Amino acid sequence: MAWQADADLAPLTTFAVPARAQWLCRIDQEDELPAALQQADDRDLTVTILGGGSNMLLHADVPGLVVRMQLAGIRHQADPADTDAVLVTVAAGENWHQLVEYCLRQGWYGLENLALIPGSVGAAPVQNIGAYGVELADTLVSIRYFDTQTVQVRELDRDECQFAYRDSIFKRTLKNTAIILSCTFRLSRTPRAVVTYPALLQYPGASADMSPQQVFDAVCAIRRSKLPDPAKLGNAGSFFRNPVISADACAALQQRWPDIPVFAITSATTSATTTSATAATTDVKIPAAWLIDQAGWKGVRRGAVGVHGQQALVLVNYGGGTGQQILDLATEIVSSVQHTFGVRLQPEVCIVPAPPGGL
Ligand SMILES: Cc1cc2nc3c(=O)[nH]c(=O)nc-3n(C[C@H](O)[C@H](O)[C@H](O)COP(=O)(O)OP(=O)(O)OC[C@H]3O[C@@H](n4cnc5c(N)ncnc54)[C@H](O)[C@@H]3O)c2cc1C
Repeated sequence: MAWQADADLAPLTTFAVPARAQWLCRIDQEDELPAALQQADDRDLTVTILGGGSNMLLHADVPGLVVRMQLAGIRHQADPADTDAVLVTVAAGENWHQLVEYCLRQGWYGLENLALIPGSVGAAPVQNIGAYGVELADTLVSIRYFDTQTVQVRELDRDECQFAYRDSIFKRTLKNTAIILSCTFRLSRTPRAVVTYPALLQYPGASADMSPQQVFDAVCAIRRSKLPDPAKLGNAGSFFRNPVISADACAALQQRWPDIPVFAITSATTSATTTSATAATTDVKIPAAWLIDQAGWKGVRRGAVGVHGQQALVLVNYGGGTGQQILDLATEIVSSVQHTFGVRLQPEVCIVPAPPGGL
């Protein structure tokens, strides 16, 4: 396992902004990881974990060691507790979308709605990836991770991961100390399509009894029509999380902006059901895209970076932009939305190095 000095990170993140790592190492085997971390510790280097770089904004060079997780492998076994289910264990470096395709080909169902989400399997639990009415937490059984504090491999079951909307224990108490090695999913051998999300329901030919393959095809088609392809236009998907606010705060906003869309949070995580704030008894979610759009940011350009013309939640690098320019734009948007609506947007994207005082 060779370390590369002064490594170019621009091709390793989907924003494709210029940034260099003091050191970069690529982990292809699990047993290489402890040695790399020990060396970093010996040299007093901070460690940054990198997967596919599709949820990361590098706004400056990264000091210390960047560890790129490239562990490969997919295993499966019958589920002793459920003859209809299969347990699929996937190494952290596998590509997420390729996993979704692979499982569909095998006749293992449950991941179709998460098709075309860029990035690696190891990063997927960090923010509990979700799309089109499904999230990782729905099928995840357990996670194996390397604990950098105890220098041991540990396992967490689903409940211990504390999944919530774009959130997990890996963003909280285990932040910077857990390096995910593999994830195990429970998938169904019986086709069970989840067709509850409005954009999916509105897709031509959509119905409650769509096959998983049809759901996969529809999700891919919708995503390709709505989201910029990072291979052509640098971006990291949704830059901000949808704010979760109290029903009371929402009712106050609705007095001034009656058209504000509101989504109920019916589980620990997400729901796409439009609701009335007055009917809600607990917190609700409002779309960050709507707030940004209403504050006048959709399509705004700042030199080589800007807010996408169709997707107000997506910040883009038109080519030649820097991470600092994107961070400055994001900071302006946060202030503007706070000023207009009194709602503080939080980034969904990981900002590296962490800006002092946050965004
Ligand atoms: C066009 C586009 C569309 C997107 N759509 C969606 C969407 O619909 N839903 C959604 O939820 N997300 C979406 N995303 C965001 C992104 O795809 C996911 O967050 C994805 O899981 C990131 O994976 P990655 O490997 O690229 O992670 P990276 O960007 O490399 O890392 C993200 C974070 O995870 C940490 N990390 C990475 N690997 C590990 C590991 N093995 N162990 C511990 N920590 C690790 C990193 O340190 C960092 O904090 C989209 C992004 C793009 C560019």
